[in-house]
Amino acid sequence: MNLKVGIFSFLPGWEIILKQEGIPFEIISLNSEISVNDFSVIIVTELLSPEQTDNILDYLSNGGSALFGTRIYAQIFKTHIIHKKIKFLIPEKNSIYSSVGLVDIYSKQSFVKDKYLKSLDSNLKIYKKQFGKGTVVILPFTINKLVLDYKSIRKKFLADRKELPSEIIAKVSKSKIRQIIRISLEYLFNVRNLPFIQSWYFPKDWKNLFIFRIDTDFCTIDDAKELYEICKKNQITATWFLDTESEEKLRFFRDMENQELALHCERHIVFDNYEKNYNNLKSAKSKLEAEEIHSVGFAAPFGDWNPELGKTIQGLDFEYSSEFVLDYDDLPFFPFFNNKFSKALQIPIHPISIGRLRRSHFSKEEMLKYYLNLIEEKINLNEPIIIYHHPHHEHFEVINEIFKYINKQGINNFSIQEYASWWEKRSNIQYNLDFEDNKIKITQKNPDTDIFIKIKTKTGFAITEVQKEIVLDELNFITSKKIIQPGNLARTRKKNWRDLLYNYESFRGKIKL
Ligand SMILES: [Zn+2]
Repeated sequence: MNLKVGIFSFLPGWEIILKQEGIPFEIISLNSEISVNDFSVIIVTELLSPEQTDNILDYLSNGGSALFGTRIYAQIFKTHIIHKKIKFLIPEKNSIYSSVGLVDIYSKQSFVKDKYLKSLDSNLKIYKKQFGKGTVVILPFTINKLVLDYKSIRKKFLADRKELPSEIIAKVSKSKIRQIIRISLEYLFNVRNLPFIQSWYFPKDWKNLFIFRIDTDFCTIDDAKELYEICKKNQITATWFLDTESEEKLRFFRDMENQELALHCERHIVFDNYEKNYNNLKSAKSKLEAEEIHSVGFAAPFGDWNPELGKTIQGLDFEYSSEFVLDYDDLPFFPFFNNKFSKALQIPIHPISIGRLRRSHFSKEEMLKYYLNLIEEKINLNEPIIIYHHPHHEHFEVINEIFKYINKQGINNFSIQEYASWWEKRSNIQYNLDFEDNKIKITQKNPDTDIFIKIKTKTGFAITEVQKEIVLDELNFITSKKIIQPGNLARTRKKNWRDLLYNYESFRGKIKL
């Protein structure tokens, strides 16, 4: 029994999610019969010919599992589609999707009314259907379109107080879309009594990872020094995205120890034009190089992103970049634009900085509480903890407390570059997983001893080293912790007059430059 996902056919948005989740998959044609032993689950994203439809129905009758969009379901089972424009959705309290929380869609949701369907989550409108011995899960979203979207909007984040912090970030919450796919696949594997296996998100069996990003935007050397001292004191290696304002400041940064140096900007602006972006960044890069600072990373001013900037990042051979207008609170991925995957890895971060909390009138205690809650949420969701700060926003004692908490929790710290190169190794592994008699036989291309796997069964999950053979009964399975989302999530999407004020401020901030 091969623990592999078959996907018909290639769509970059789906590929991004499957690679983020580290799930073995193969693109299939559906032109010949598919054996339930060759594919644990098949994903169907394109409309089918009558022969292809027959092959899917045979696969299902024999006990296969499939994941469809509504359009495919309606085509195969000849039902009527209902469309509805949706801004955001909140899953049911007690469904398998509850942990996902609020999902921003900002597009149309398509579903069918069919009395033979059972609801997996009536709020999300995700259904399942038994067909013969097999199971289909039907998703009401156009996944590819959502994942590739790069529009932005101001969004508020939840906190235990009246005024909520906000930032202009990616409109679609892509990490939530990814989580919905992962949970659906877990379900479809487990329904067949098959273990669901994926590459673990962190090196070895680490429970999480802490990354601290610093955007130096025109800070003073004194502020930079103070922040550097706090990093040193807590043994934190941060990644500093430098502005190239003064040579003296660059020399200070160059002489710091155990810190990663990367590029932020010369002029603090992103153009929707390749040439202008290229000239701005090229000039900044030369200034760094003149001070013997060799950087492989870039983070755009305002977290802005557009395909012209994406092209520039590649043109200047950056290994990675980080822009929350493209994506936030998510796992790394290679962006897809202009018909190809970028060679530069995207590292999403949590987009709310102390600067934004300050603008929303948070006290120091409230700031610390915000980040400690975030850290706990990230640990529960298995998403890396990546936050950022501007030295000129000071509040160094809050940062010091965050670092102390990270160390107390025993969470490992990486620079962004370290995580990016580890993630690239992870992306290159290819597994073949054969499941028989409760044993998994594993062969792999480009193996790496730092990359572990997560095995999820109906009983729980285990994170383990990759071996040629893994006997399931010998593993220590942990019961998955139930994540309870706060009941007042919709609060974050209520319009407030301050949203307009902050949008105006952000607009003014950009044209001044
Ligand atoms: Zn900046």
